[in-house]
Amino acid sequence: MNEYFETRCIHGDPAAALKDENRAISFPIYQTASFSHIKPGHNDSGFDYTRESNPTRQRLEEVVSSLEGAAGTTAFSSGMAAITACFELFSPGDRIICSEDLYGGVIRLHKLISAKNGLGVDYVDTGDLQAIANAITPDTRAIYVETPSNPMMNITDLRECAKLAHAHNLLFIADNTFLSPYLQNPLDFGADIVIHSGSKFLSGHNDTIAGFLCSKDQETAKKIRLLSKTTGGVLAPFDSWLVMRGIKTLAVRMERQQQNAVKIADWLLSQKKVKKVYYPGLKSHPGYEINAGQARGGGSMISFDVDCKETALKMLERVRLITFAESLGGTESLLTYPALQTHPDVPKEMREHLGITETLLRLSVGLENAEDIILDLKQALEE
Ligand SMILES: *Cc1c(COP(=O)(O)O)cnc(C)c1O
Repeated sequence: MNEYFETRCIHGDPAAALKDENRAISFPIYQTASFSHIKPGHNDSGFDYTRESNPTRQRLEEVVSSLEGAAGTTAFSSGMAAITACFELFSPGDRIICSEDLYGGVIRLHKLISAKNGLGVDYVDTGDLQAIANAITPDTRAIYVETPSNPMMNITDLRECAKLAHAHNLLFIADNTFLSPYLQNPLDFGADIVIHSGSKFLSGHNDTIAGFLCSKDQETAKKIRLLSKTTGGVLAPFDSWLVMRGIKTLAVRMERQQQNAVKIADWLLSQKKVKKVYYPGLKSHPGYEINAGQARGGGSMISFDVDCKETALKMLERVRLITFAESLGGTESLLTYPALQTHPDVPKEMREHLGITETLLRLSVGLENAEDIILDLKQALEE
C-alpha cells in the first residue's frame, strides 16, 4: 500500500516505521536526553540516550531510508556533520577521488581537516570516466560525487561510476542534495552511501539545518551509526520533527519547483544579457541524456552566466521577490553569488577552471508563481 513515493513521504514504510503508542497523527517530539530502564541489562524501549538514538529521530531516519531505498539512515545536525562522519570511515594514507565541482564546504573540510588527518583527495571531472580511472591508485578507497554538481550542474553517470568503483573495491558515495530522493535514488544505480543536506529540499522551508547518510547495506549503516554516536553531531528531536514535517510535502514541492525551473530556464535562455544557462533539464545541457537516464527531471537549481560582473552585482541588489541569500531547496526563491558566498575557499584558478566566475549566478527556484519570479528577474536585468 505504500509503494508510491508520495505515500512514503507521509507514512514511511509501515513495516519499518516506529509507531507512537498514543496513536498521534503527527509523530511526537521526544524532547528527552535519556530513557529509563526497568532493571540492569533490561532495555524494553530500545532507547538509552538521545546522542545514540531517539524515537523522533528514528522515525525520521526510517522515512528517509524508505525514500532512498536504504538499509539504514543516520540523521546528523547538518549536512557537513554527516559528511565529516562519512570521512571518518577512512584512515590516514587513504585517498578519495572527488568531483572537482563540489559544495564549497566539502572542499574546506578537505583542506582544514582531512589533510591534517592524512586523508588525500584527488579532484577530477567525474563526468569523465577515463579521468576517474586514471586517478585510481592503490591507496584510493572511495569515489565521491555530486550529480548535478554545485554550482556548475555537471552530471556524473551513476551506473558507470558505480561499476568502476566496485571493480576496484572502492566505496561509491553520492551527494543527492540537489535532486532529492523524489527525483533521483543513487543507491538504485550502485551507490553505497547517499548524502543529503537535509537543510535543503528535504526540510524544504529554509528553516532547519540537518544532514543524512543513507547506506545501501546494514554493515555500512552500522559503522555510520557507531560513528555518529561517537562523534555526536546528531540531529535534535525538534529539528528531526521539522524535517519530518517538511518531507510530508516533498513530492508536491519538488514537482512544482521543477515545473517553475523549466519555465525560468527557458526564459533565461531568451535574455540578451544571459550568456549561458546551466540546467540539466535543458536538452542543450551536455549531461541531459545521462541525467534523464538516472533522474526524473532536472530539478529546480539553475546556474547562469550574465554578460558582465556589473550585471551580476546589479541583479543581486535589485531582486525584490527573490532573496539574495545562500542555500537552496526551500519554498522561497534564492539567488546566490557562488564566487563570493559558497566557493570563496576554492582557489581562484580552480574557480575559473570550473566556470565559477564573477558573472555566474545560482538560482534556487522556489514555490512562488513562476510568472512572478520571471517578472522579478526581468526588472533586475533591465538597464
Ligand atoms: C548545503 C549542502 C551541503 C552542506 O549541508 P549543510 O546542511 O549546510 O551542512 C552539502 N552538499 C550540498 C550539495 C549542499 O548543497
